[in-house]
Amino acid sequence: MRPFEYARAGDPADAVARFRPGAMYLGGGTNLVDLMRLGVAEPEFLVDVSRLPLDRIEPDGDGLRVGAAVRNSDLGAHPLVRERYPMLARAVLAGASGQIRNMATVGGNLLQRTRCPYFQDVSKPCNKREPGSGCPAIGGDHSNLAILGHSPACVATHPSDMAVALAALDARVHVTGPGGDRVIPMPGLHRLPGDEAGRDTVLAPGELVTAVHLPAPPAGASRYRKVRERASFAFALVSIAAALDVAGDGTVRDCRIALGAVAHMPWRCERAERALRGAPASEESFTRAAEAELEQARPLPRNAHKVPLARNLIVRTLLELAP
Ligand SMILES: Cc1cc2nc3c(=O)[nH]c(=O)nc-3n(C[C@H](O)[C@H](O)[C@H](O)COP(=O)(O)OP(=O)(O)OC[C@H]3O[C@@H](n4cnc5c(N)ncnc54)[C@H](O)[C@@H]3O)c2cc1C
Ligand code: SF4
Repeated sequence: MRPFEYARAGDPADAVARFRPGAMYLGGGTNLVDLMRLGVAEPEFLVDVSRLPLDRIEPDGDGLRVGAAVRNSDLGAHPLVRERYPMLARAVLAGASGQIRNMATVGGNLLQRTRCPYFQDVSKPCNKREPGSGCPAIGGDHSNLAILGHSPACVATHPSDMAVALAALDARVHVTGPGGDRVIPMPGLHRLPGDEAGRDTVLAPGELVTAVHLPAPPAGASRYRKVRERASFAFALVSIAAALDVAGDGTVRDCRIALGAVAHMPWRCERAERALRGAPASEESFTRAAEAELEQARPLPRNAHKVPLARNLIVRTLLELAP
């Protein structure tokens, strides 16, 4: 690992003031330190933001404010999160292991890097690591990479479970940086790769995530489900965060659907949601909505299985949520 300087910031303004070219913020380190060991990340200076006074979960209007330094295990176990946002609690607890969740922070979870095998292997080219070097995943192992929104530059997926629930909950990410404070609506924090595979998010250099605001929970029933190769300690093949509100006459009043592990960002299923509002809450409508969404899918030769997987996950989850 390349030598680096280290400083612990006292507050968000101090963290931003210390940031400089070659620096990176350090949360729990569960992703960044791994990437440093692999030589994928080589910061000259780490600004530790894991102990900033941003470690509280508190009511905020109709919703909840979650500090960026809150540990994943504290978020998943918090009584207000479990009671009002069960989809989020389940998503967080579906990620990683107990030990990693004890270290990992909300800010770091949102900004963790892709698990594309070529990105993590510095002996291979990768546009995300080295712009212009190529994307070996397209002709190689892409069995768990993107089916939606990818580009010739990059077909990676974003691995965060938490981000999928936040996208379905219409969460807002609070950020501070050299240019001041701003609020980014989810799923808008992450971006599609386009021809800039190296940029995972819309954050500018030095911008620090300070908090996530959750608005009032969606009406109706909600759920997070994750399909993976084994029951724990595995990233998603496809995941879903969904909420369904059905009126007394059996029609869908409102719904939220976001998919994980299918794109470079959490994928909010706007087409499916539009197709469902006002439709009968039936298997036929759920199937039509899923198909309307997945018409846009462009699977690669070795990940076409993710399309029926996503379709079935949408339909089965909505059926479980329907009264
Ligand atoms: C074996 C293993 C299995 C895993 N399985 C899953 C899984 O199933 N699902 C899942 O979602 N995750 C999984 N993870 C990933 C894990 O959740 C992330 O490593 C963790 O959430 C990252 O949080 P952190 O605080 O440790 O971030 P760090 O590693 O400290 O940082 C990650 C990135 O975020 C940046 N950063 C950190 N905090 C801030 C901030 N406040 N503002 C701006 N930038 C910031 C850092 O500069 C860095 O680029 C797994 C990890 C491992 C090692
Ligand atoms: S999919 Fe993206 S991260 Fe993976 S090798 Fe291609 S450019 Fe790199």
